[in-house]
Amino acid sequence: MSGTLERPFDFVIGGAETPGARGERAPVKNPASNAELAQVAVGHADDARHAMEVAQTAFESSWWASDDGGRRAKALVKLAGLLESRLEEFARLETLNMGKTLKESRGDMAFVVRTIEYVAGLADKVQGETISVPGARLDYTLREPLGVTVHIAPWNYPLLLAVRGVAPALAAGNAAVLKPASLTPLTAIAFGRLAKEAGIPDGILNVVVGSGSEVGEGLVSDVRCRSVTFTGSGEVGRRIAEIAARRTIPATLELGGKSPVVVFPDADLDRAARGIAFGIFGNAGQMCWAGSRLIVHASVHRALVERVAKIATATRLGPGTEAESEMGPLVSPDHLQKVAGYVESARSEGGKVVAGGSRVDEAPLAEGNFYRPTIVDDAPPAAKAVREEIFGPVLVVHPFETTDEAVRLANATDFGLFAALWTKELSTAHSVARRLEAGMVSVNEAPVTFPQTPFGGFKGSGLGFEQGADVVRAYTRRKNVVVNLSVPKPKT
Ligand code: NAP
Ligand code: MG
Repeated sequence: MSGTLERPFDFVIGGAETPGARGERAPVKNPASNAELAQVAVGHADDARHAMEVAQTAFESSWWASDDGGRRAKALVKLAGLLESRLEEFARLETLNMGKTLKESRGDMAFVVRTIEYVAGLADKVQGETISVPGARLDYTLREPLGVTVHIAPWNYPLLLAVRGVAPALAAGNAAVLKPASLTPLTAIAFGRLAKEAGIPDGILNVVVGSGSEVGEGLVSDVRCRSVTFTGSGEVGRRIAEIAARRTIPATLELGGKSPVVVFPDADLDRAARGIAFGIFGNAGQMCWAGSRLIVHASVHRALVERVAKIATATRLGPGTEAESEMGPLVSPDHLQKVAGYVESARSEGGKVVAGGSRVDEAPLAEGNFYRPTIVDDAPPAAKAVREEIFGPVLVVHPFETTDEAVRLANATDFGLFAALWTKELSTAHSVARRLEAGMVSVNEAPVTFPQTPFGGFKGSGLGFEQGADVVRAYTRRKNVVVNLSVPKPKT
């Protein structure tokens, strides 16, 4: 890929493409080469206000918020179909902007299509209830959309994590304003452009780009914002929760992780090694639920680490657009620095680097942000690389002797997003799954999720859940109506 995509990527507000109030644009880069990829509009607080105003007007004046969930479902199914028919184009754009392999981007886009179809199926199933109460009364509840919902997305699954919140909010009849990460806004903007063709009224799906501190906070602080869905770092998530608390609006927070993978001595080591490698080197390790801490029984420690190291060393790095590439670059030079810094600190704190441990500095990959799949064995539990989320392809390894010790090590973290365990023993699988402090647990499986299964974290990993059968209702408010049915006594 050389040169810039010709058409600039402007905001989508009120069904129109607009470069924003000040007309500013900035380049986004291709992380495989750090060459300029496209020019993207950059917004400010006034653009955030404008998007919120347009969304509020559309919410109040279009048919979208009406009781006709079936009509919304039709538009959403159309939107999913449009995306599916252009899946290859979207996958390529995601890969060019974010770096992941085309295979990964295709998987992400297919997940987005399924998510929209799934919530479309729920759009006409949002209903209240009648409640028996004493006396001559009828009591019932209504489920109403919230109004304008704000969605702030990170860069690691740019479109997938944006649509995961936007789609159910739309299905419930809200108007959405989406702010993708500044590093990776292209697919979100391209997605916003599809709304009109799908028959979604102008102003119901808006996309605005700009820094989180200005545009992101501007959106959440706006009086019209009725809920915020945020996926990103804990630091920013807690800041958003503070703003939401001041405004008494709900916040769904999907934050980071440092997820344990516990391997018992009876596990199928070959399968486990493949699952572990996928769970930490997939997406170049830039996954909130990466299985980044391997907690392995001492009797199989060496054998398992050897297997994972073999996979790590054999992984072919290269631009995501090339069919042979098995792992793409990290998203930016800053992020590469951060990941490399963690590995250096692990080394100096006594960890043994048994695979990877360096960036690729041979041409032509040296131009991009490539970092080798890395394993740090026997890292002391207090090491920075063991405690903090690295968000890169770096696995730290600890041996254990007893099940209690494994559970204690697994839970010894501020996070609680995901945990995996590998064993053939049914009783071990189910009893340990209960003891792990994580919102999602997988047994004999690398991380896997579906639109119909809840996704969310415990402890420092977040608040609330996304996906699952309740997800559309989560974007509604409940109103109780009581009607007095007593007939007045006739006057004599
Ligand atoms: P980030 O720095 O928190 O940014 C996430 C989003 O928030 C971006 O759109 C960013 O905009 C915006 N933002 C930044 N500061 C803001 C503020 N003060 N107010 C409002 N919005 C603000 O996170 P990241 O570096 O993009 O992503 C990595 C993190 O996301 C990791 O911790 C990872 O674990 C987490 N994550 C969690 C999940 C999950 O489902 N639990 C999934 C994926 C990622 P700009 O970047 O444009 O400034
Ligand atoms: Mg950030």
